[in-house]
Amino acid sequence: MPSKQSCCCGGDKVVMTVACSGRSNTGQLTNDAAKLIDRTGTARFVCLAAIGAEDPEVTDLAKCAGRLLVLDGCEKACARKIMEKAGFREFVHLDVTQLGIEKRLDSRYSDGQLQTVIAAAERLSAGMPLEVRP
Ligand code: SF4
Repeated sequence: MPSKQSCCCGGDKVVMTVACSGRSNTGQLTNDAAKLIDRTGTARFVCLAAIGAEDPEVTDLAKCAGRLLVLDGCEKACARKIMEKAGFREFVHLDVTQLGIEKRLDSRYSDGQLQTVIAAAERLSAGMPLEVRP
């Protein structure tokens, strides 16, 4: 991850999340889980598109994260690749399909699937290991 020298967001304890926000069910799960954990104060949701567009303000904000959580909707890992291209190296990555949720080209998902993703994101935000289904 780039240097945290110009910290702007309250120090190293702030957890931040970016999400691929893809159109599939699993992509939409990343987006909606990130929104909801932002609302509860668990992790601040940061715009991945702005980082991909090299917006300096948003990129600098993400540099300040004490822990950065990168959520992807499938193994293509678009969010992870965007973050790596932007120079970020130290982050926690979650591919939602690791949780046993099958990707479909349909943006609908169940409330239970959303709760599964939120629970996983909260564990990772707290520095706990992910419980991956066998
Ligand atoms: S990681 Fe998968 S779901 Fe997310 S934007 Fe890329 S292709 Fe779509």
